[in-house]
Amino acid sequence: MTTSPHSDAFVFFGATGDLAYKQVFPALQAMIKRGHFDMPVIGVARSKWTDDQLRDRARDSLEKHGGVDADAFKKLSARLQYISGDYQDDATYQQLHNALGQAQRPLHYLAIPPSMFKAVTKGLAKSGCAKNARVVVEKPFGRDLASAQSLNRTLHESFPEEAIFRIDHYLGKEAVENLLYFRFANTFLEPVWCRQHVASVQITMAEQFGVQGRGAFYEEVGAIRDVVQNHMLQVMALLTMEAPKNSDPDSIPDAKLQVLNAMRPLLPTEVVRGQFQGYREEDGVAHDSQVETFAALRLHIDNVRWKGVPIYIRAGKEMPVTCTEVLVELKPPTPPVFDADDGAASNYFRFRLSPDVLITVGARVKTPGKSMTGTDTELIAHHHPDDEMTPYERLLGDALAGNSALFTRGDTVEAAWRVVEPILGNAVPIIEYQPGAWGPVETARVIAGADRWHD
Ligand code: NDP
Repeated sequence: MTTSPHSDAFVFFGATGDLAYKQVFPALQAMIKRGHFDMPVIGVARSKWTDDQLRDRARDSLEKHGGVDADAFKKLSARLQYISGDYQDDATYQQLHNALGQAQRPLHYLAIPPSMFKAVTKGLAKSGCAKNARVVVEKPFGRDLASAQSLNRTLHESFPEEAIFRIDHYLGKEAVENLLYFRFANTFLEPVWCRQHVASVQITMAEQFGVQGRGAFYEEVGAIRDVVQNHMLQVMALLTMEAPKNSDPDSIPDAKLQVLNAMRPLLPTEVVRGQFQGYREEDGVAHDSQVETFAALRLHIDNVRWKGVPIYIRAGKEMPVTCTEVLVELKPPTPPVFDADDGAASNYFRFRLSPDVLITVGARVKTPGKSMTGTDTELIAHHHPDDEMTPYERLLGDALAGNSALFTRGDTVEAAWRVVEPILGNAVPIIEYQPGAWGPVETARVIAGADRWHD
């Protein structure tokens, strides 16, 4: 699904920042190690550093994130340059233009606060650095529909949509790609993947921990903005969309857009917002904070495939487990032939997306003996310990190659905001829950089997 030639220079804004430290240097080293990457690497930020200081920072980052590979690091060091300058200053982009030299198709990665996007994209356009270039932008992509639309307008002033790559690192996970593959590479799924056979669809993103000292950051977002609007709705779209028409780069975003547009904007009565007891005592958190650390929602998809099927999303901190999982439950056979009394016949597909990759099928088998009764069993289709590639290695590699399949297109981001827009802010009251519980007990109001979990 490549649209155009490979990029020939990697520019990263925010070179001295946290994201570059935690993700960008390790991804660059990994790409070099696999032999996928050989081009100038130019870091741009405000600190008055030298090239050598950026190299030291890269080494330090790698020591803390997976280790230094002597050979790959040597190659990275030789490619690395640093430009010190303010993003509001035209001179910064002139320096960049000079440093790009012979490069014809640079990729600019904006690992910077969104408040800086406008200055940087304008600076790139004015200086000629945006010509034939791609731009990668980080989350958060807006705080609501209006701010996302405004951000899209800003980006479109300097770059065409096909040159814009909005990162949702969740979509770079091996497990998410496998979900898409498993759905469309197997004939046995398609006939049952619809309202006639599916009883419910549920995505759970549970974390056993709290805000881990990042209270001030979390106060600005909450669970709905942090993970539901982006990661979880994007995964839900992959799970429920129609098959992509062909291998055209727009086929997957087109299919996602169609299903996101079919999702009914949420009603406050279909949502529970929770806050774990003790959150308000965290550093940086207001003593009367109304920010949710848990959200449970019941969605409706108004199309032929899904009409009437309850679609559940729940996400929370201080949950009983740390795990992200998709559960697609099938209806029992009608009329029931066996197990009619205990009503047990339950088939399902379970996709664990993290911490490990797991695909299972829940089925019934007969218990040995004379009576025709059975027990539940689970067939493991695939189990993989960990991602080989980090999402950043995969996604930055794809962006350099012009492959947009795992990125979010502007209209799909806006469509996802449209779904959650009515429940942002305090439209739904906050309910306290005990750490270690599956959210407030009121969750049962919107999600059937709210405290159920397959171990
Ligand atoms: P930081 O605050 O750590 O880094 C910001 C970077 O931007 C620094 O390199 C800083 O340079 C540079 N910068 C800011 N303003 C200017 C300016 N006017 N001129 C020149 N340079 C400037 O942010 P993060 O790395 O944490 O986050 C960056 C983006 O990535 C944000 O949008 C964030 O939401 C997103 N993100 C971050 C994640 C993370 O784990 N950190 C995870 C997912 C997304 P200097 O320090 O030299 O002044």
